[in-house]
Amino acid sequence: MTAITVPAREGRAIEVREGQRLRITTPKGAQAADFFAYNARNVGEWLSPNHTWVTTFCVKPREGDTLISRFRRPMLTIVKDGAAGVHDMMIAACDQFRYEFFGHQGPHASCSENLCVAMRRLGHAIDVIPQPINFFTNTRVEPDGRFVSPPNPVPPGAFVEMKALMDLICVVSSCPFDLNVDGWTINADQGPTELLVELI
Ligand SMILES: [Zn+2]
Repeated sequence: MTAITVPAREGRAIEVREGQRLRITTPKGAQAADFFAYNARNVGEWLSPNHTWVTTFCVKPREGDTLISRFRRPMLTIVKDGAAGVHDMMIAACDQFRYEFFGHQGPHASCSENLCVAMRRLGHAIDVIPQPINFFTNTRVEPDGRFVSPPNPVPPGAFVEMKALMDLICVVSSCPFDLNVDGWTINADQGPTELLVELI
């Protein structure tokens, strides 16, 4: 078994062979895990929530769902959801401009930068930031279409487990979001914490 700790605010890439299972855990609870996946043989093919939800008919990833690429090929199946469905696949990965939008001045760590750095470590230059799956984030669409993020209930030790359906490069980012924005609770009050990524 391979186990990687993704430090708070950082990202890591991991190669996952077809048939292997990838488990992502939030040891302290309520830490958003931005998740990206690429075809290991062609990083131009990446996991696409937008293509996935028109086959699963749900804007949230659920146990049993097959996640597909932008070329509509199966990449992963969610075999076990140990976080009671508290996930999101609509929020774009945070980036420098998102933090500036909220008034932050100066550089700020982001999931977009974490993705680029993690992929560069494997020799891949990424110039498109795919829509991630945001595991362990509590977002909800109201009947009138408004989008809200109530306080995050994900407990310590919550996890999600996926099976690879092709050889993949997966990237997990511990979302560095730490701004105090009213009504927008992404990570817990404790601030960003580490994530555990295991290959089993
Ligand atoms: Zn983020």
